[in-house]
Amino acid sequence: MSSSTMSALHYSAFYICCVLLCLSCLCYTLIQGRVARRQNQLYILLLLNMMSCAACSVVVAFFEGGFGSGTHLIADTTRFMSIVFHASLTPMFGYYVLLVCGNAWQLSYRGLALYALPFIFTELIVLMNPLTGWVYYYDNTFQYCRNWGAYAIYAAAFFYMLAGLLNLFRYWRAVTSAKRNALVFFIALVAVGIFVQIAWRDIQIELFTDALAALGLMLSIEDEDDRIDMATGAYNRRALSFDLKNFITTEQVFQVIGVRITDTASVHRVMGSSASDAFLRSVADYLRTLLPPYCIYYANPSTYIILIRGDDENRAAELAAEILDRFGKKWKGGKVESLLHAAVTRGVSPKDFPTREDVLFMADSPIPVKEEKKVLSGRDLSYLLRRLEVERALHRGLEEHSFEVYYQPVYELPSLRMTSAEALLRLHDRVLGNVPPAEFIPAAEQAGIIEELGDFVLEEVCAFIAHGEPDKMGLNTIGVNLSVLQCMQPGFAARMKEIVSRFDVSPSKINFEITESVAANDYNALDTVIRDLKEGGFTFAMDDYGTGYSNMQSIFSLDFDLVKIDKGILWSAEKNSIGRAILDNSVRMIREMNRKILVEGVETEEQIRLLARLSVDYLQGFYFSKPVPRDEFVTLARTKPESNLSILIQEAAP
Ligand code: C2E
Ligand code: CA
Ligand code: CA
Repeated sequence: MSSSTMSALHYSAFYICCVLLCLSCLCYTLIQGRVARRQNQLYILLLLNMMSCAACSVVVAFFEGGFGSGTHLIADTTRFMSIVFHASLTPMFGYYVLLVCGNAWQLSYRGLALYALPFIFTELIVLMNPLTGWVYYYDNTFQYCRNWGAYAIYAAAFFYMLAGLLNLFRYWRAVTSAKRNALVFFIALVAVGIFVQIAWRDIQIELFTDALAALGLMLSIEDEDDRIDMATGAYNRRALSFDLKNFITTEQVFQVIGVRITDTASVHRVMGSSASDAFLRSVADYLRTLLPPYCIYYANPSTYIILIRGDDENRAAELAAEILDRFGKKWKGGKVESLLHAAVTRGVSPKDFPTREDVLFMADSPIPVKEEKKVLSGRDLSYLLRRLEVERALHRGLEEHSFEVYYQPVYELPSLRMTSAEALLRLHDRVLGNVPPAEFIPAAEQAGIIEELGDFVLEEVCAFIAHGEPDKMGLNTIGVNLSVLQCMQPGFAARMKEIVSRFDVSPSKINFEITESVAANDYNALDTVIRDLKEGGFTFAMDDYGTGYSNMQSIFSLDFDLVKIDKGILWSAEKNSIGRAILDNSVRMIREMNRKILVEGVETEEQIRLLARLSVDYLQGFYFSKPVPRDEFVTLARTKPESNLSILIQEAAP
């Protein structure tokens, strides 16, 4: 190798490294398919720019040595090109920072023009250089010399680095800490490169440090693995939460569309988890045909959230309608096809959803409307307001002690003796009045205070038992409702035990009720909790039997002492022969499994006669009493059900 080639190689080593680095980053980015977002595209452009710039510099190094007169032209042209590319590098890098921070979207055209001004100026003086020599020129020995324009380019570069940094500080909270740290580090790296190259002209390191920074960006910022939900390919909830925070801190207007698939739980139960995953995936695939993938988030097991920047409400409305329409047709879930039902909601932030929590709240709140024929927006979203008000009432209730436990008696057949009671929670709110538990219990679950309420109910019940009245009344147990969410909390069983022992109450006095349909979600965990508490002496009832579509085998593998047949089953048994057959068979089946049977919702003598014929064990219902406050309940115990009832029961006995 000739010495001039060697020196050219030495001189351009950093440039060659830069080309190789950028090329690797480019290939990897393309292989990963990270091309959809504006940020991705700018990143690719940055790589291409650096690569071109470095490649030109390599050519300069080889030809500048002068292998003949024609080479000057080549060296001169490529140098010129490299500087054209170079002058646009930091403006691009700065803009990339703005994109990552999220506030690039709010720049008006004027703002953008202002931002681009130093860039336009420097590019202009570079382009005019062949005529003016403002950026560089060759002296009479053909030596390359920098002119003031070169320093103007560096000044612009510092401006863009500084702008990026200041912007980052301004929107510090809009960016995740990992991204923040990465950005600060890489801005610093680029700045060091620029500084070294200005100070020591011969160390051509700047493009190499830029490329290193780009590699870092690829690994830290462009990498979205932790943001993607593996099953559906959509962004996950974490990504949703971060992006919402970003949009809201940077004060962007954006459209929100919620797609809630209302029958995921039953699809899961009937067709199994792999089919239900496949259905969810096909919905995500469909959404990706309508929208760029970066707009779609998988917020929770049945809800997709779509975020679209900008104030185009009409487009969002059309999209929402189109999505809802699609649910009129079947979906593919692996080998099976089925209709899915969905409720679609739509709103605008900040108008409808001023905070991140509002959007997440919408994603998680049950949609009360049965009618799924129209997109819910504007006033239809008032159910969210009601839910928020209920949530406030819950917190108020805890502070102001406006919760109260009511008791509803349970009677044994055929003696008609009151043998137990069910504790039912009431909320008397000073603003909303009496809120029904069917409304506030799910809200308490969502708001994360169900445990606190559950503890309160058990404490009240224990205080009542410790007081001695229930024993005097001859009650064997008191039923306490449990939300499955509550049972799944770590340390749940231990806490229940702690509460009863604090009141010195025997656990055998407490009968926990768990709803059948809910019990279906996670048998193993539930089984462990039930076993643990049963060993401690508590008893268990399966509540609302006949309302879910539970897997019978699994549900009866749980060790319940009592099954409470839902009122719906009783009521339809009176209406027609199919209902009657269901009741008869349920009773027979449960008895064969050696569980006690309670029927809820007893309102008429006719029903009592029917149930006496079936010889169920216990009755509960408005016929005897509604749930009443504790003191009223105590007086209630002194009045026995009417005596003609006993005759009625004796007549009916099989
Ligand atoms: P549940 O456990 O099935 O409670 C029985 C519900 O049926 C009660 O409604 C009761 O008032 C009502 N009921 C009883 N007999 C009759 C009748 O003859 N006719 C009619 N129409 N209704 C009758 P409530 O008190 O409104 O409670 C609704 C649900 O809220 C409960 O259903 C239970 O799931 C939940 N809940 C109530 N208190 C608690 C609690 O402390 N913790 C938890 N986790 N859930 C609770
Ligand atoms: Ca119950
Ligand atoms: Ca029930």
